[in-house]
Amino acid sequence: MSAQAKIIDGKAYAAGLRERVETAVAKLKADHGLQPGLAVVLVGEDPASQVYVRNKHKQTLEAGMNSYEHRLDTSVSEGDLLALVEQLNTDPNVHGILVQLPLPDHIDTEKVINAINPDKDVDGFHVINAGRLATGQDALVACTPVGCVLLAKDALGSLSGLDAVIVGRSNIVGKPVAQLLLQESCTVTIAHSRTKDLPQVCRRADLLVAAVGRPEMIKGDWVKPGACVIDVGINRIEGENGKTRLVGDVDFASASEVAGSITPVPGGVGPMTIACLLRSTVLAACAQAGITAPEI
Ligand code: NDP
Repeated sequence: MSAQAKIIDGKAYAAGLRERVETAVAKLKADHGLQPGLAVVLVGEDPASQVYVRNKHKQTLEAGMNSYEHRLDTSVSEGDLLALVEQLNTDPNVHGILVQLPLPDHIDTEKVINAINPDKDVDGFHVINAGRLATGQDALVACTPVGCVLLAKDALGSLSGLDAVIVGRSNIVGKPVAQLLLQESCTVTIAHSRTKDLPQVCRRADLLVAAVGRPEMIKGDWVKPGACVIDVGINRIEGENGKTRLVGDVDFASASEVAGSITPVPGGVGPMTIACLLRSTVLAACAQAGITAPEI
């Protein structure tokens, strides 16, 4: 029987990260009187977004930070939303601003994201932060990609020199993961829907990151024996008994027979996102206050 991969426990890693954030926040308060604050803006009633925002609020408070929630009606005008962003940009108690996506169709998402002060853009989606990341400057980086790289480093140690393949080239996952792995001195390939012979490209990877949004697309025989597999995908599918369940972009059953380590879905990358958001808010608060950020 083939070896079973080590399961990378994102839930446990995220819990440890949240504890480190909490310790850092307590120290910032004690030493500098600084209490980091995160403002989250939710437009409309999207059920998934409501769950995310509730969890962000709860975990921000648990970490000892200030949490400011702004819930706006779906019909809010773009102008009113931009005015709120501007108000948060200038509020000294707010160090991080997150506008929950998706926004309603009548609002230009790019315009809203790029209206956020880049130094408060804890989601890392502002074009200035994308540019800073791409040019190796200090940047606020999208939370899920940071989570992927933290888990990969935890599983593998140094990533230097590894062949990394990222399947997916979105601005919010694939591209920032690629930039971060380049900074870690991986040799990076970004694959996408036009990639020729995707299974063969994936088989080259010492580190394979799947961010596609297609349930269980990546099979065990696409995985190099011993590789580390980071599965970003969150897909809800109909299981047995008509009940739905969450699966990743990787076929976990077959891939875990071949990989050296692998993230499960759920319980892998998913829990890392909010923990990394809290970490980014602390880093942003320190930068805005001119304080050297603690190691988190
Ligand atoms: P997008 O839909 O924006 O991007 C998907 C990418 O996958 C595209 O680059 C697309 O290629 C590529 N792709 C689609 N089909 C194929 C295929 N058959 N073969 C190869 N590549 C393909 O998705 P996101 O990046 O936003 O999200 C990816 C997944 O990660 C989703 O399941 C999402 O739910 C999950 N996610 C999880 C998060 C978390 O854990 N907290 C956060 C964000 C996302 P092309 O560009 O050519 O169209």
